[in-house]
Amino acid sequence: MDRTDTPRPSAAEDVDVLIIGGGFVGSTIAAALAGTPLRVAMVDTQDPAQAIGAEFDGRSFAISLSNQRLLDGVGIWAGLADSVGPILDIRISDGPSLMFLHYDHRETGEGPMGFMVENHHLRRAQHERLSAAANLRVFAPDRVAELERGTGGVTARLAGGATLSARLAVAADGRFSQTRAAAGIGVTKWSYGQTGIVCTVRHERRHDHVAHERFLPAGPFAILPLKGGPEDAANRSSIVWTEGHELASAIMALDDDEFTAELGRRFGGFMGAIEVSEHRYAFPLGLQFAERMTDRRLALAGDAAHAMHPIAGQGLNMGLRDVAALAEVLVDAHRLGLDIGEASVLERYARWRRFDNTLMLAATDGLNRLFSNDIGPVRLARDVGLAAVNKLPPLKRLFMRHAMGLVGDLPKLLRGQPL
Ligand SMILES: Cc1cc2nc3c(=O)[nH]c(=O)nc-3n(C[C@H](O)[C@H](O)[C@H](O)COP(=O)(O)OP(=O)(O)OC[C@H]3O[C@@H](n4cnc5c(N)ncnc54)[C@H](O)[C@@H]3O)c2cc1C
Repeated sequence: MDRTDTPRPSAAEDVDVLIIGGGFVGSTIAAALAGTPLRVAMVDTQDPAQAIGAEFDGRSFAISLSNQRLLDGVGIWAGLADSVGPILDIRISDGPSLMFLHYDHRETGEGPMGFMVENHHLRRAQHERLSAAANLRVFAPDRVAELERGTGGVTARLAGGATLSARLAVAADGRFSQTRAAAGIGVTKWSYGQTGIVCTVRHERRHDHVAHERFLPAGPFAILPLKGGPEDAANRSSIVWTEGHELASAIMALDDDEFTAELGRRFGGFMGAIEVSEHRYAFPLGLQFAERMTDRRLALAGDAAHAMHPIAGQGLNMGLRDVAALAEVLVDAHRLGLDIGEASVLERYARWRRFDNTLMLAATDGLNRLFSNDIGPVRLARDVGLAAVNKLPPLKRLFMRHAMGLVGDLPKLLRGQPL
């Protein structure tokens, strides 16, 4: 699929940026560039209309505060206003231990810790935003049959018959990125031997917009507060429940009553009776990162570049941070009259994202290993650690600001500024 040093044929439709993959990350890059002079084409194998109508895959995203600013700045947040709920506080506990860590959003003075967004609402809001974009061409359902990356640009031949030429291709085609593979970019990956069981529950009592993360011996169990309808009854939560593969398969095979009873044993009775209100889904969990984020006239973004354990709800958040950095790098280069696909421009993007992505991959991996076991001394050490952080306001504030996506050399869109 991938060749180099081929001239750009004149019959091709000419754009500046070709985005391969129109999922959460690809669509957000398109939205970020839609208000700039850059001409953009986006190709996705899925028909967006069908993707919106498709059965909800159960996932809900905890979007950090800085990424809420990004989604607002690129015109997606306005379409989500009725369907998101804030995360005000987070309570982290270690199994039955009484020691816990409590993040109270008021301690940072910045606003909520983040927002819960259901997958299908985010898709719809992205689709609405992109439908109104003048400098964007969407090819979906379609796919890149052949991609040639030459010194002067890229040429893509689509299975649907169109030919596109661009200065730069962006691979946002997810964890199993064919674009990445065709470019010969290897990945390092490992499986945790864990499955994430995801479902939505209704509960008798209000969640008061508090997220709970419990570390159980098989892995983390998260209760994440969803908006409960137009009047926000605050009685729905998204569950991400980690178990070893074998037990997870057995749990997935239970009937509804047995499943609810098993869930209830982890959930506890603090929100009254619970009812599993939608289907359940299972995702194998692993870590994966590409050996580099760029190649000749190619930039990787989102899960195509890095995929991580959902323990801290950061996978999409890191992808959106890629979007903010990439959009700023490209717009700056264009303003300076540079070729947006040249190596020095792409190197700025790769450098900007390297540390942040590596830190988060290491943090999610370390947390999962530290907490997914029941070894006495390890348990004692981590409980003391949680309690100590809880009692050290400056350290606690730093961790909270990390979770809110407010730490580091932030691109403009994450600071709420236009490009
Ligand atoms: C259980 C679970 C819970 C999670 N919870 C959170 C959370 O709370 N917060 C968070 O930040 N993250 C979370 N994540 C991570 C998040 O789901 C991913 O990081 C995110 O979906 C990645 O988005 P993406 O656009 O990079 O990839 P994808 O969503 O995989 O999109 C890839 C797109 O590319 C298209 N495509 C694929 N191949 C091609 C091709 N050859 N040509 C054209 N198009 C192609 C696909 O159709 C798709 O639209 C969670 C993940 C799991 C498994």
